[in-house]
Amino acid sequence: MKRRILSYFMRMLTVAVALTMVLMALVTYGMFKTRMNEDLSVDAQVIRPLLESDDAGRVMEELSDALRVTVIAQDGAVRYDNRGDAAQMGNHLDRTEVAQALREGEGRDVRDSQTMETSTFYYAVRLEDGSVLRVAKEASSIWSIYLNALPLILLAMALMIAVSFFAAHLLTDRLVDPIRRLTADMDGEHSAASYPELQPFMRTIRSQHEEILRSADMRVEFTANVSHELKTPLTSISGYAELIESGMAQGEQAQRFAGEIHKSANRLLTLINDIIKLSQLDSPEHRIEREVVELGQIAEETVNQLRDSAEKMNVTLIADVKPGWISADKRMMEELIYNLCDNAIRYNVRGGSVCVEVRPVRERVLLVVQDTGIGIGREHQERVFERFYRVDKSRSKATGGTGLGLAIVKHIAAQHDAAIAVESELGSGTTITVSFERVMR
Ligand code: ADP
Repeated sequence: MKRRILSYFMRMLTVAVALTMVLMALVTYGMFKTRMNEDLSVDAQVIRPLLESDDAGRVMEELSDALRVTVIAQDGAVRYDNRGDAAQMGNHLDRTEVAQALREGEGRDVRDSQTMETSTFYYAVRLEDGSVLRVAKEASSIWSIYLNALPLILLAMALMIAVSFFAAHLLTDRLVDPIRRLTADMDGEHSAASYPELQPFMRTIRSQHEEILRSADMRVEFTANVSHELKTPLTSISGYAELIESGMAQGEQAQRFAGEIHKSANRLLTLINDIIKLSQLDSPEHRIEREVVELGQIAEETVNQLRDSAEKMNVTLIADVKPGWISADKRMMEELIYNLCDNAIRYNVRGGSVCVEVRPVRERVLLVVQDTGIGIGREHQERVFERFYRVDKSRSKATGGTGLGLAIVKHIAAQHDAAIAVESELGSGTTITVSFERVMR
């Protein structure tokens, strides 16, 4: 950024300096020209009465170094010239200043010499007798003035550019410095003192920064939790296997231990499966494959998979579905409904019930999973969607929970822009509602 500001600055300065130089030269030359013209008319006025005097020839002769004086007859013939032989000179009617003087009383012209080194300024004035008096003076041409002054101009330009370069450096440093300070100290109070124009940008950056920190924290916490969760079943597997290996457990007992090993291994598998699902949902490459699906039918099928476990818990499972079309990833919908119903069964009471409802309401399709279970205390209602957050750890584990089911639900809902609402009362049951955007057909 600094380099861009600097280079932009330098380009601007170079153009400005060059332009100033050219303008200055033009203005100076213009002033010089006006001055020259004024001088010439004064000269002509002085010379005019002298022409009548007796020693006019001598005076003109003396003047000839500084001033060329010519007298031209009305017909253009040169009558007198203090720098040459008048008789040798051609007709002067075609000279701009002479023609103009004959017409208007006064005439001027500037002509460059062939080499362009000098310019001659002419002033002509009509006399009473109809002839024309012309005075002329040479001066360096604009080009030679430029050429002579070029080293000086270049030097001045270089100097100005050098000074500007340092100034630009200083300025860009001062411009960029607050930004640099900000980068070095994201959370510090310096950030508040920087440019007001940068405030919205800073707010975004800072909130992103916080987000990154938070997500890093969460990752560390998640890793710690995962390790801990994996350790428990593995410790138990290792312990039972050791007992069997050493021959301390025999017969029926060995069989029971093998059963425990089997149970722990299954726990590990479900846990790892859930972790894989979550990490897939987390990965930035993960794309959900949406298609228009009928949520009622998916709910019905998923509920049927859970009939056995409901029966085992002595829980009545009811599906009350109406057709509701949404744009979603079908497998994810199965996962979401499964997790919600599984919880509704596992955290229920003997003889309780679970009702799964799909119902289109205006522009939405609602999935409502209602149970008559133990309920979730108000203080836990938000947190149950966190990874590994359980209200009653032993009950969760005893029923095969991983603590990740609702985290997966929350993730899937977010990816489908669906809203989740929890309503629950301890001892009387929980209702979880997920609201999807409806596809009209
Ligand atoms: P878990 O595998 O432990 O069930 P979840 O993420 O699915 O993990 O749920 C987190 C916690 O939320 C559970 O441990 C449980 O305490 C509570 N919970 C979830 N669903 C219900 C429900 N329907 N009724 C009561 N408590 C529930």
